[in-house]
Amino acid sequence: MDVKKGNKGYKVLLEFEKKKGSLKEGEIKFFHEKKEVKVGLGKKDKFKPKSLIKIFYNIFKEVDEAHIEPKDIPGLYEFPIYGAYLADWDFGFKKEKEEKKKKILYYPDYKDHKDEIEVSKILAEAQLFAREIASTPSNIATPEWMVKKARELKKLGLEIKVLNKNDMRKLGMELFLAVNQGSNHDPYLVQITYKGGKDEIAFLGKGLCFDTGGLSIKPARYMYQMHMDKSGAAVVLGIMKAIAQLKPKITVHGFLALTENSVDAKSIQPGAVVKALDGTYVEIVHTDAEGRLVLGDSLAYIYKKLKPKYVIDLATLTGAANIITGRFASPIMGNNQDLVNEIINMAEKEQEYVWPLPLWDEYKTLLKSSIADIKNIGGWDGEASTITAAKFLEHFVKKENWAHIDIASTMDDKELHQGLAQAPMVRTLVKWVLSKG
Ligand SMILES: [Zn+2]
Repeated sequence: MDVKKGNKGYKVLLEFEKKKGSLKEGEIKFFHEKKEVKVGLGKKDKFKPKSLIKIFYNIFKEVDEAHIEPKDIPGLYEFPIYGAYLADWDFGFKKEKEEKKKKILYYPDYKDHKDEIEVSKILAEAQLFAREIASTPSNIATPEWMVKKARELKKLGLEIKVLNKNDMRKLGMELFLAVNQGSNHDPYLVQITYKGGKDEIAFLGKGLCFDTGGLSIKPARYMYQMHMDKSGAAVVLGIMKAIAQLKPKITVHGFLALTENSVDAKSIQPGAVVKALDGTYVEIVHTDAEGRLVLGDSLAYIYKKLKPKYVIDLATLTGAANIITGRFASPIMGNNQDLVNEIINMAEKEQEYVWPLPLWDEYKTLLKSSIADIKNIGGWDGEASTITAAKFLEHFVKKENWAHIDIASTMDDKELHQGLAQAPMVRTLVKWVLSKG
């Protein structure tokens, strides 16, 4: 896939609804003799730029080359690019691959919108990079494989530091190690750094390469997609790839918390009490609430080693996120309302909706343990479980500069590439970083 200056291929005519004879919203008509495509955008005041993703996906499924007639339409130099890249995306493991011609989207007025188009290309590529990582099954995408993916980013000028099992032992990251202890694969906490300025931002992604639930095992229906439980880490890899290319004047760290949660005689047993890096004793009531254990120790590590201006974590953390916001949005929580608002606004612009939930301290009372400082689930009925998971994480946050996005609801694609991972929020968070430096 490429985006170039020019007017080759099919001419795409985008029209808002007028009174008579207009195409319906989202309707696409091909006129093959004239090499023209007419597209209905619906009513101008109801128009959502993200509809251009699906429209251009459908156009590029049909043709290999097209150009867009210049027009004043919001998102015209961004969303068609995402749609075209998605049409060209061919991820999977098949004995015979279809032969394909290279697809090219042309803009006759490329020069006038060069910056926006080039940022969009980088974001489209970073997004697909993240989606491929998150979609790769766990027999291939082990924690070691994820470390290798991070190391590949060195060629873009990023620095990589890897904490291994021994480092974690020395640091006292027993929550992280407890999750890992039933697995054949070692755990890693990877730090990817882009140096761009004095201020620092840290992203942290949950990277559960496979989550069986541990001894509190998941039912089959909720287990088979659990190679996507590393989506947070995949999103952070996508963010760092784009940041390396876009070079903002701010330093950005991307942390990947990598392990499996497996069933074995060595697996941590429910009821175990384990000490975190920051000294907190945690009662592990439920071994499937493992993401927060891995992230709790990782957050404690980040606050111990760095002085970040902002910390944002991304995690497929709770099934309840899907009940709350469904496939269309991800819940966001944090202890800094300005930061949360900035991300909500940027996500609205990028049309990757996030929506806030409260973090009132009353919720923390649900995590009270009779044997330790805190327990890792709120209760057996899932009461406010998306919020109590965030309250657990907040316990390890040392400054009012943190936000948490639960991407469990938006983990998998239910529309254009069904069954593959979506790795959402790459675009939103990269644009948010660009707004900071
Ligand atoms: Zn789990």
